[in-house]
Amino acid sequence: MTAASPPEILRAPLIVEFPFTRSLGPVQSAFLSGLRERTVLGVKTSDGRVMVPPVEYDPVTAEEIRDLVEVAATGTVTTWAWNDRPRSQQPLDTPFAWVLVKLDGADTALLHVLDAPGPDAVRTGMRVRVRWAAERTGAITDIACFEPYEGPAGGAALPHDGDFADAVTGIVAEARLDYVYSPGRAQTAYINALSDRRTVGERCPSCHKVYVPPRGACPTCGVATTDRVEVGPAGTVTTYCIVNIKARNLDIEVPYVYAHIALDGAGLALHGRIGGIPYDQVRMGLRVEPVWTEGGRYPDHYRPTGEPDADYDAYKELI
Ligand SMILES: [Zn+2]
Repeated sequence: MTAASPPEILRAPLIVEFPFTRSLGPVQSAFLSGLRERTVLGVKTSDGRVMVPPVEYDPVTAEEIRDLVEVAATGTVTTWAWNDRPRSQQPLDTPFAWVLVKLDGADTALLHVLDAPGPDAVRTGMRVRVRWAAERTGAITDIACFEPYEGPAGGAALPHDGDFADAVTGIVAEARLDYVYSPGRAQTAYINALSDRRTVGERCPSCHKVYVPPRGACPTCGVATTDRVEVGPAGTVTTYCIVNIKARNLDIEVPYVYAHIALDGAGLALHGRIGGIPYDQVRMGLRVEPVWTEGGRYPDHYRPTGEPDADYDAYKELI
């Protein structure tokens, strides 16, 4: 069938999150332990530059740096950008400026936020100071933010031994991506067809390959695929693997077979689980059909149709 009018494009919120645990090493450990004690540390390179936040290796010479120094909690904004709409998890819940601040005694700038009433109150060159968080744990958030400051400037960086009681040795950074995902025109049609238990791909008008799931364009010919084609429902196992490790949150007994399946009429294989047959009897060329469960949005698995196996030549280009 050919699409006459495009369907409404699907959109859905998507959140990807995971904790990222890392050990800190001597330099970052001292830096974060210092923040907990309201002390800002940097490192001094062999040519005398002071880097805040500290790094473990000189970005120019790559030599190891271990000479810790203490800098002031006051500094100068070197550049900034206004953030009108703070997002959840950002340091402040009112509009604020992202700022690069060169602390007094440092030669490089630290990225943080500035609490200011509006963009008119922010300028490059303005003087600021650290506003410490009330509760500090040894994290960059121990600096709650920067705030405007008109007092005296701090002096030069002073050597520091970096020793703190109960030093922070590791951190867990919560990585989180929170966004709205749209699968686009082609995959919207594919997903909508699946809700009718049909599988729909798109054919390239140039090479005539049928993409399932459709991608909206042929990556070989570089042209849009607009001809919609229903494929399957039966197909052929082109290749497979036996899964022996049970996945967390997946209630499937091992061993089971996960296969590439070329649905009849499709120009490439999709993957699915094979059921209804002992795992050690699954083979290349096995003819299968989808099994749907009540309310399922895609086939739960594929089972043998009972037809003779497909000839190797019929699917060898799809492996
Ligand atoms: Zn093509």
